[in-house]
Amino acid sequence: MIKIGAHMQISGGIENVPENTLNIGANSFQVFVHSPRTWSVKEPDKESVEKFIKNVSGLNFKKENMLVHSGYLINLASPKEESWEKSFTLFSEEIKIACMYGIKYYNFHPGSHLGEGKEYGSDKIARSIDLFFKDNEDKDIFLLLENVASKGNTIGGTMSELGEIIKKSSFGDRVGITYDTCHGFDSGYDIRDREDTERLLSEIDKYIGIDKLKMIHLNDSKFDLSAGKDRHEFIGKGFIGDSGFRNFLSFDKFLNTTMILETPGDDDAHSEDIRHIKEDILKC
Ligand SMILES: [Zn+2]
Ligand SMILES: [Zn+2]
Repeated sequence: MIKIGAHMQISGGIENVPENTLNIGANSFQVFVHSPRTWSVKEPDKESVEKFIKNVSGLNFKKENMLVHSGYLINLASPKEESWEKSFTLFSEEIKIACMYGIKYYNFHPGSHLGEGKEYGSDKIARSIDLFFKDNEDKDIFLLLENVASKGNTIGGTMSELGEIIKKSSFGDRVGITYDTCHGFDSGYDIRDREDTERLLSEIDKYIGIDKLKMIHLNDSKFDLSAGKDRHEFIGKGFIGDSGFRNFLSFDKFLNTTMILETPGDDDAHSEDIRHIKEDILKC
């Protein structure tokens, strides 16, 4: 059985996410632990944590099928001290909340060096990761760097850039990656093409290690290859298309990795995307 799900809303109570996930035909999910475009975050109340944990185990969700996505304001590569401080504080708080909920995977965007260069940026991210683990070695958390659309000063558009960060960290054994198909397509990885998908796999293995690929963000793209726009589309309705996903998922490593949709719309739309993947693309 494939491991698939979507980014789920927590506005109706995070404790309801496991059941809402089953209702869209999924067995995996991703959540934010607060409003992702703000700096404010508060510790969840004990009751919601207890209910969430009870529902997760009652409905048999597996650890490897749940993750927290970081807030969007976090930039651990920032050369501006104040914004780095705020980023690091929020990063640490979000991870602590993920741990309270018993969620092991925490996914974040590497960040932007704001003109200081990629070398500077990857150094700073690796040092931030180290600083976090130095005080939190006992936490049951595994960090996932997400590949982003290559544009401007962003870091992490290529597998080698993600690998660089992991190599520079003293806690690299506690860091892996999420591969986002839309962002990868934006950065020139053409998963419609068999050979280019083989290139992607071999780059992941060469620069990162294939076992460190823990999650896939399965998104189609509203724009063509290498556009760098980062606009997600329903599965099959964008430039990757059904045949592109059929090619991508013909590789066992991708098919067997937990897939999370971040396509437009909410539960109904995600439910239709999941049905489409299972019945029309994979025919399973
Ligand atoms: Zn993301
Ligand atoms: Zn995106």
